[in-house]
Amino acid sequence: MSQARLLDGKATATAVRAEVQAEVGRLRAAGLAPQLVVVLVGEDPASQVYVRNKDKAAQEAGFLVRTLRLPASVTQAQLEREVQSLNADAAVHGILLQLPLPKGLDAQRVLRLLDPQKDVDGLHPSNVAALALGNPGLFPCTPLGCIELLERHDFALEGRHVVVLGRSMLVGKPIALLALERNATVTIAHSKTRDLGAVCRLADVLVAAVGRPRLVQGEWVKPGAVVLDVGINRLADGKLCGDVDFESARERAGAITPVPGGIGPMTIAMLLANTARAAARLAGLEKDSLLDRERR
Ligand code: NAP
Repeated sequence: MSQARLLDGKATATAVRAEVQAEVGRLRAAGLAPQLVVVLVGEDPASQVYVRNKDKAAQEAGFLVRTLRLPASVTQAQLEREVQSLNADAAVHGILLQLPLPKGLDAQRVLRLLDPQKDVDGLHPSNVAALALGNPGLFPCTPLGCIELLERHDFALEGRHVVVLGRSMLVGKPIALLALERNATVTIAHSKTRDLGAVCRLADVLVAAVGRPRLVQGEWVKPGAVVLDVGINRLADGKLCGDVDFESARERAGAITPVPGGIGPMTIAMLLANTARAAARLAGLEKDSLLDRERR
């Protein structure tokens, strides 16, 4: 059997980022300097890398960007005060709380305090509700990245069976809701699902977001299916791999994302898109463009 088409997230993300950059240019020409603030608490090495990448990408797209670094010893009350002052700062348009927080801090309480209009990660309860209700809002970046990648490769979800492995609030559930909104038939599987292989074989579009290296075997993939591998797992030799066994899956899939270079770059691109959109909305400078489609 021929090998799957590679869904190049890096190239697609470059195209999205160029569009965001143009949008930031439009906002700047209208007198608005859109600003993203990333709140980073503690020294988690993976978070440091993620934040550096987001910071760089945001700068390249023309945003003002600042990382607010707080020590792991920060108290819940201090952290909440910092977030409230970012909410109140009219020069700040997007706030991203880098997760996970160090032990002892309650991320949900902090997320609930965020101004939903500045919540560019889409985790405030009112944005979660907007997604569930099919209303406009800011939605999580990785799920948006999955959908954007499919749409830019002309894969329509309507009538397709989408199987999502994983039910986190950050990835699995929002992907399922976005797919449902596009008239897909959706199954959500998780650690208690029986016969995961049989469930996966039903998928026209299989999304793996579990955080288990190479859990999804080639024989779980329906011939011709589209496979989106969201997982990012670091192996003992330091290399990254996804939740899908890429080599065996690409023999059966119709299209597949690599790790790295698939959903990861799309996530950052959608963070930038969300931030531009949040800034335009807050400033009353929205326009009917790619960045303002109602579904986001
Ligand atoms: P998470 O919060 O740990 O959720 C993992 C989900 O997978 C849970 O719903 C869990 O089920 C399910 N699961 C775990 N083991 C399973 C198994 N053996 N069989 C079936 N389901 C299983 O993780 P997450 O935040 O959603 O992230 C998932 C993966 O995506 C991670 O590798 C993460 O690094 C990656 N990620 C990538 C990006 C990106 O930009 N590409 C962004 C975010 C996350 P239960 O609910 O039953 O426990």
